[in-house]
Parts: sequence; C-alpha cells; structure tokens
Amino acid sequence: MNQTPQELLKTYFGYDTFRPGQEEIITHILNKEDALGIMPTGAGKSICYQIPALTFSGITLVISPLISLMKDQVDTLNQIGISSTYLNSSLSENEYIQTIENICHNVYKIVYIAPERFLSDTFINMLNFLDISMIAIDEAHCVSQWGHDFRPSYTQINNIVSTLQKRPVLVAFTATATELVKNDIINLLNLRNPFVLTTGFDRKNLYFSVETPKNKNAFLSDFLKTHKNLSGIIYCSTRKTVDNLYEKLSSNYIVSKYHGGMSEKQRSISQEDFVYDKTNIMIATNAFGMGIDKSNVRYVIHYNMPRDLESYYQEAGRAGRDGDNAECILLFNRADVVTNKFLIEQTPSDSNHSNEYKKLNNIIDYCNTDECLRSYILKYFGETPKFDKCNSCSNCNYLVETTDITLDSKKILSCIKRMHERFGAALVCDVLKGCNTSKIRSFGFNNLSTYGIMSDYSKDTIRDLISFLVAEGYLKNVGDRYPFLVLTDLANNVLFKNQSVFIKKKIEKIAKPEKESNSSSTSNSRAPSVIENLSFDSELFEILRELRSKIAKSHKVPPFVIFSDIALKQMAAYLPTTEEDFLNISGVGNFKLENYGDIFMDVIRDYVKNHKISIEPDITKIQKVKTKKEDTKKITYHLFVDEAKSIKEIADIRNLSVSTIENHLLACLEEGMEIDLEGLVHTNFEDEIISAIESCGSQRLRPIKDVLPEEVSYFDIRYYLIKSRKNNLS
Ligand code: ADP
Repeated sequence: MNQTPQELLKTYFGYDTFRPGQEEIITHILNKEDALGIMPTGAGKSICYQIPALTFSGITLVISPLISLMKDQVDTLNQIGISSTYLNSSLSENEYIQTIENICHNVYKIVYIAPERFLSDTFINMLNFLDISMIAIDEAHCVSQWGHDFRPSYTQINNIVSTLQKRPVLVAFTATATELVKNDIINLLNLRNPFVLTTGFDRKNLYFSVETPKNKNAFLSDFLKTHKNLSGIIYCSTRKTVDNLYEKLSSNYIVSKYHGGMSEKQRSISQEDFVYDKTNIMIATNAFGMGIDKSNVRYVIHYNMPRDLESYYQEAGRAGRDGDNAECILLFNRADVVTNKFLIEQTPSDSNHSNEYKKLNNIIDYCNTDECLRSYILKYFGETPKFDKCNSCSNCNYLVETTDITLDSKKILSCIKRMHERFGAALVCDVLKGCNTSKIRSFGFNNLSTYGIMSDYSKDTIRDLISFLVAEGYLKNVGDRYPFLVLTDLANNVLFKNQSVFIKKKIEKIAKPEKESNSSSTSNSRAPSVIENLSFDSELFEILRELRSKIAKSHKVPPFVIFSDIALKQMAAYLPTTEEDFLNISGVGNFKLENYGDIFMDVIRDYVKNHKISIEPDITKIQKVKTKKEDTKKITYHLFVDEAKSIKEIADIRNLSVSTIENHLLACLEEGMEIDLEGLVHTNFEDEIISAIESCGSQRLRPIKDVLPEEVSYFDIRYYLIKSRKNNLS
C-alpha cells in the first residue's frame, strides 16, 4: 500500500485534515513503535489505529470491552471499503466458526474482539498461525484498578502477547487516565518504550451550562420546544425519575427510555430506536451510554446532578462526537445532593465512602462556582487551561451583576467561627436563621451574637451563600458523610483584613439569537464551531435525511454510518452535483462516492431543478468551499509572515494539525504569495530531492520519499515539487 496517511484519510474516510494528535501518533505507529493515546471522547482515536492497520501487511486486532460499539465500528469500516469483523458473545456458534475461518483466510484487515474471546483457548491456539501486525487496546484504562472501569480480563492481555512468536506493535487508547492509570496501562500491558500522546481534555464544540430552574420540567419543556427534531439524551439519577419524565414527555415528543429495571430486550429495542433515529430523545439513567457511538447527539441534559465530575464529563461527552456544536446542561437543585448522598450510602464500601464524598463535594462546587465552567473542569482533570474565560459556557456568557456581599459573608464566617468550626451547613444555617430547636439550645448556640442574625433571609438563600463561599474557597467542607465547615485563609482575610467579597448574580443571558432551522449551530452562538456555521437548505436537508434513513434501513446499519449530519448539511449547502464536488463533502471518500454518490446527487439535481435554483458550479458552491479554504490559509499566512510564529505555534493557536498548517503555507507558495519557506526545508538535500522527482515523476510522493534519506520530509519534497513546477513555467 503506497498511500500516505494523509491520502488514506481522504480516500477512505473522506476527511481533508487530521485532528490534533492523530498524525503524530500515526507516524510513530507506522515506525512500529508502541504507543499510548490519551484523547477525549470524539477526538478520533479510532482513525489513529485504523490508518496504520491499512498500511501494515497483516491483521490488526482491536481489543474492546464495548460489544455494542463493535458492530457500529465494523459497519462503518465495511461501508468505507475496509474489510472488518468482530468476535464477541453476540455471535451464534455458526457465525463464530465462519468468522474464524474467514480470519484464517485473511479476509479481514481489522478484527474487533472482546477481551474474554481474546483470552479463550481456541483463539490463543490460533494466534500464532495468524499474521498479526498490530494489537490495539481500546478503553485501555480498564486494565487499571485505579480507573473507573476495571476489568480483570485486561490484566491477562500481556500474558498472551508475551507468548507470541512474533510480537506485534502494541497500541493503547483511552479517553481518561490519571498519572496512576497511565503508568498502569504502560506497565500492565507491557508497552515497550511507547510514544505517549495526551491531547488534553477540552471538547471545544461543547457548550457547558449549569441551570438552577425553580421548575425543572418547565425548563425542559421550553428547551425542547426550541430543539425539536434534534437528538438528545436526558440523564436522571433514578429509574423512577426516568419513568415519570418518560410519561410526561411521551405525549408531546417521540421518546425512548433506558434503565436497569427494564428487561434486556426492552433496553435493546429502546437503544436501537434512538441510535437509528427512530426517536429523538433518550431519557435514561447512567446505565445508558457506555459504548454508544451515536455521533449526532446535539444535547445532553442532566436532569439531576450526577455524583462526580468524572461521570458528568463522560456522560456529557456523549454529545457532539461528530465535531458539530452541542450543549451540555446540568440542572441543579439541593435535593440532588441529598439523593446522591443516599445513593453513595447504598453502595458497599470499606473506606467509609470518603472518596465518593470528596468527589460529590467537587461537583457541588462546580454547580456553584461563578468561574468559567470549562476551565473548572479542565483544572479538575489536572490540566492548566490556556484561557481564563472560554466564552462558551453559561458562566462566561451570562450578563452578570456584581453584588458586594462582604457583610453577609462576615455574618456567616463569624457564626461558623463561634460554633468552633465543628458543624455542617445545615446547623450553621439554622443558627443564622434563628431557629428554636433543641439541638441549638443544647449547644447554647441561641446565646451566640450571630444567632438569628440572618433571620430575614430564607434558609435557601443562606444555604446558597454558604455553598458560594465553599465554591470560592472561603470555606472548606471537612469530613465525609457529615462534613463540617472550616474557615480558610481567605476567610480570615475577609474577617480581619477588610477584604471584600463579591458575588456575580446571573441576571440574564446575553441575547441568544433565535434558533433557526437552517443553521447548523444548535447551541448558543458563542460556542466555538468546529465546522463553520453553515447556511443550508433545511428542506433539502430533511429530504437527504430521509434518503439516508431508507438506505441505512436496507443495509441494517444506523444512519450515521452512511453519512454524518455534517455531511448532509454540507450537501444541502453546497449542492454538489459532480463527483469532484461530492468528494469535497466531509466524510466522503472513494467508497462512499462510488456507493452513494449517484443516488444522493440525483436527489440534489432534482431538488435544484424543481426549485429552479440556478447554480453555476464554479461561482456558487465550489467557490464557497474555496473561499473558506482561502480564508483559513490567509490566517495562517498572516501568523507566519506578519507575526513570525512557528508552524507549531500556529497549529496550537489555531487548534489545527501541523500538517494542515504546512499545507496552508505550501499553498501560499504555490499561489505566488510572498513567503519564504526556505528556513523550514532541508536545503542540503536539494539536489537529491530534485533528481528523485525527475526520476520518479511528480504524480505520487511516496515513491520519491522511499528513495531519499530518512531525514527528508514530505514537506521538503512538496516544497521542491512546487519550486520545480514554477521553474518549468517560467
Ligand atoms: P473517539 O474514539 O476518540 O471517541 P472516534 O474515533 O469515534 O472518536 O471519532 C469520532 C468522530 O470523529 C467519528 O465520526 C470520526 O469519523 C470523526 N473523525 C475522526 N477523525 C476525523 C478527522 N480527522 N476529521 C474529521 N472527522 C474525524
């Protein structure tokens, strides 16, 4: 196989550029190095092993615990012309035997396998007879007891690999790994001197918000009215809440539900209805989601606060896997804290639940902070954000009114001090309110000067103020099950050094533009868009969606396996009617063009004709695509030429891959813009490169690269190709 990774990305997957980190890790894997990729959900981990799998001569095994995901992944690969299969417990005996036979006859390039199957005697006996080039271990955190999903079978993988006569390249991927888990992955899977890539936890296309509505159902009803026809998940903390909400919403919306109290059959029907777009809304407990690859989930609402930020980020992260904008909303009220404490107490533990309570307090802080929410999450996961405000979360985007609450804070802090910092928020609140309870009398707190000092406030307000002081670090909750409040140094500054305390009251959102059905932005307009906010023809989009559903049904695959929503929106925007234009659509590679190009283009042509839309190819749609590329190239040009930034710096600033930036710069050179790239090129190989171009021809880069020394990069070759083309012209 002579195609470069970049070419394979376009030919098979239909994408023009790599996402951050992908190209780097692929390069190392292609050098036969072991690798570990820690990349957030939706970052595109699969392509990191699928592209090397295409290049390696033998089979790639992918060990994954997520059986429900395997079928989607295999369907997706077969749809783009990469022969794949899976081995897991969902296969019948006959299917299993047939699949094994096919594997032995090298029918497949990629084989997904559940860990238990990988460890089975039959499979182990077969392994040495197969040509295995690479083993990719998905959800690699499962190997560690410190991860959130430990699977003992993962710890056996290394025993098997070490018995193989020829050791394949070993690569591991996960979305979350603390330092401890990362080390476990490397040691327990015995990765040899692996290349480790961590791309960070940020999901730029997700808009985060915390809302505290008086009536959660009224909030939902308002939200759903403006988000009709979009796919979304509503997570609830108990089965009962799921059932109640399902009852309420099913009269007005097409909804599914999912929780552990339903039979396996009911759950699988429900899941399939949602994944296959038969229903728009999934109401579920946290039992739903592990292994769901639905890429077009446009919102995830947490009807109740989950018990920790790890679960929250994982569940919220199921939104927007396709890179298009999506919203993650957490509806908070104090009853959620009580429910979570109850749920924590229900789970067996030998450590007094101290870790769970600590995590619960962190998510309560998240709900109360007025700091940027994205920044809060990133810091929680140990990352240092490069910004103070992301401008894409509810805390950054609310108009705020700053109120001086120094006096109220002093009352609360001094009351806690007088109670000797030995009691929790509930009792502090009662003392400040001036409640006449036996507990208060027995401790003599009714004699404190702060007793009843906030009697004109509601208990809820006092509790909110205390939560705020905790979230902002003036107070600390110490202890687990019955935490008590203690003052921090910050509190002492307020009490004794005249430091003021301000609260930012959220008063109103900055005017949210009316949602229009023909905008791809489903969320707040300030959410950064990974794809440009397209203006597309919504009627045509619906027609294309229907066509996609029909095709998906006949192939028995979920619709997003045929084309993503983004692809359909681009079709409805650019109206491609030639093969060349159709290939410009994101996610359209050669196979998709061949299999579906005509049928989709026929529908587009009919639509254009029936609606008398005049399109002159190079003036409208192609021009549109080109204009966008033009703009993005110019930004890179400006940063490189005017601001003297390095390629790496530009890639970081623009959140694009290094190769994309290189492409921009080379395109500028090719178009005759004033740009000097000589400093980036290995000029000492100029003669060799030019003679390699002359002897190999300029059609393909790989043959040229193969005859040149290792140090010569594709960038060098393309630079001299452009130069020689220009010389020939002049
Ligand atoms: P992860 O396993 O990291 O959660 P996936 O591998 O499932 O993510 O990829 C998420 C989505 O992103 C998929 O729809 C995939 O096709 C898409 N994707 C991956 N790489 C790219 C890319 N370079 N350009 C555009 N889309 C991509």
